[in-house]
Amino acid sequence: MATKSLKAKGDELAVSNKQLEILNGGIFAEGELPYFKDKIDQIGQFPLRPKKLEILQINVGYMCNQVCEHCHVDADPDRKEIMTRETMQQCLEVIKNTGAHTLDLTGGAPEMNPDFRWFVEEAAKAGIQDFIVRSNLTIIRSNKKYHDLPDFFKEHNVHVISSMPHWTRGKTDKQRGDGVFDKSIKALQELNERGYGMPGSNLRLDLVYNPSGAYLPGDQAAMEKDFKKALKEDFGIEFHNLFAITNLPIARFLGLFDCIRKL
Ligand code: SF4
Repeated sequence: MATKSLKAKGDELAVSNKQLEILNGGIFAEGELPYFKDKIDQIGQFPLRPKKLEILQINVGYMCNQVCEHCHVDADPDRKEIMTRETMQQCLEVIKNTGAHTLDLTGGAPEMNPDFRWFVEEAAKAGIQDFIVRSNLTIIRSNKKYHDLPDFFKEHNVHVISSMPHWTRGKTDKQRGDGVFDKSIKALQELNERGYGMPGSNLRLDLVYNPSGAYLPGDQAAMEKDFKKALKEDFGIEFHNLFAITNLPIARFLGLFDCIRKL
């Protein structure tokens, strides 16, 4: 696991332009693969423009209680960049003006933004019908002030989506830090107690698997089956779906590929 953000270590990969320089080099610069812009240009779709805004995904800050080794936003507990209430007010205006119906909140740990709950409540008044929170789970157990988050989520019918690298302690803690597995299990049990993730429940609880290195995830349906069996048998935990994704190769996830620095 990482112990500090790239920013705290003064690593060159903390700078977005350095990441872009690396990503735009290699096989792209040599013409072996086309740039995304060129590809959509070829099919007459450049520049891409949204037809209608329905789902607004907002990153409300880089502050996080964890320092996962694969984090592609380079979050850590010392990152101070968080969205202000003033900017959130502007987002509320966007919601009102566009009729967006879903608000998807991410971070860092979005719950650590001091205006997180206020924003959810105001967004509901502005017309948002569906909320998604990308919760790292451990935030619920990290401090007394977050212990009631499962109740807050339930009150606002928030769809909880959480990363869970594995159903074993060793693999989970290796990617996300010591103690993360036990806290995540406890948080999942607390969400289940409120009805989250239970068969037939409208309180949605989904898990996300993403690899820690330069490899693709396994078959999603097979992984979901394995996760469900293990978590149910070992801890009595239920959840709805498991999504297997790959991270964007940026920030700390980019830094994991040492070879890339040498391009
Ligand atoms: S919980 Fe998410 S935001 Fe926080 S360090 Fe891990 S990957 Fe990054």
